[in-house]
Amino acid sequence: MSQNAIIELRAVHKSYRLGAHLVQALQGVDLQVYPGELLALTGPSGSGKSTILNLCGLIDRADQGEVMINGKNIADMNDQQLTLQRRDTIGFIFQSFNLVPVMTVAENVDYPLFLKGVSRSERQARVAAQLKAVGLDEHAHHLPDALSGGQRQRVAIARALIKRPSIVIADEPTASLDSHTADQVLDLMRERGHAEGAAFIIASHDDRLTRRADRIVSLLDGKLQ
Ligand code: ADP
Repeated sequence: MSQNAIIELRAVHKSYRLGAHLVQALQGVDLQVYPGELLALTGPSGSGKSTILNLCGLIDRADQGEVMINGKNIADMNDQQLTLQRRDTIGFIFQSFNLVPVMTVAENVDYPLFLKGVSRSERQARVAAQLKAVGLDEHAHHLPDALSGGQRQRVAIARALIKRPSIVIADEPTASLDSHTADQVLDLMRERGHAEGAAFIIASHDDRLTRRADRIVSLLDGKLQ
């Protein structure tokens, strides 16, 4: 692709110490993620998917090799700069939704903008637009407990996109959903990612995901296939 990658891993190695053992989670991974694409990360359990997501989400650092975000090497950023980069450019979606149960749907979606210090009037307009885009405008004042699993994941999609991130990271986002709902949620992620120009990096071994992905990357034993 001629476009510049939004995130790039170059010859990345990552290992974890487990007692006396060193577990090689990634062994020389090169990966580019481009703006707006839906990238499916597949591979058996233990192949390194979550480790890649943690590196792309700036939650963890590589042992060797480089992680570049928007052309900047994260090795040159201190922890505070990394936190800001993560807050402003990356959205996260989880298998178990991770909504705040005492906040309404609108408050959950608003929270990242509140933390960023966006004005109240702008927040209200952006939250309303995001909730409409995921088909939940009529549920704005409900608590998450009153929603189905699929609706909760829609709230999580709106919350991830409200900051206008360049990247959204999702670890097994359909694992708690029935197959019909999983189809709908994946369609929505694809549509919303393309509409907002946000790259979605989704780890899953769900065939539904690979059918919808713009690109599929397969991992085995910490190496890309
Ligand atoms: P996947 O997401 O594909 O299941 P992971 O990235 O979670 O794979 O794990 C890759 C390898 O690293 C596995 O062997 C796993 O056991 C190991 N691993 C992951 N996280 C840790 C950790 N915090 N401590 C020790 N080993 C870990």
